[in-house]
Amino acid sequence: MSSSRRSCHNEPNVFCYICGEYTVKKYRKPVTDFVKSAYFSYFKLKIVNDYKPWIPQIVCKMCCEHLRQWVSGQRSRMRFGVPMQWKEQKNHFDDCYFCCVNLRGVNVKK
Ligand SMILES: [Zn+2]
Ligand SMILES: [Zn+2]
Repeated sequence: MSSSRRSCHNEPNVFCYICGEYTVKKYRKPVTDFVKSAYFSYFKLKIVNDYKPWIPQIVCKMCCEHLRQWVSGQRSRMRFGVPMQWKEQKNHFDDCYFCCVNLRGVNVKK
């Protein structure tokens, strides 16, 4: 038996696909067709939605709303120019975004 962790210690679906930030449950939104098309128009990148274990299947409320505002012309730009890129991790020790993020201290009030 190997002692290295084979699975994530954090669940990928608590992270926003677009900004990569930890998202509390009530602010998680599904990746809808609207999100996909708005994301593509803004970033010129396609949302990879093929259920890989290292790719989140949610977006945060803020990204979702900002995309909506951008599409409707109420917002000229997103808060960042380059969205999070999701690559397969080599290991869960020092190459995994989810395992390396420290979730302690993250809460709704922050
Ligand atoms: Zn991991
Ligand atoms: Zn986000």
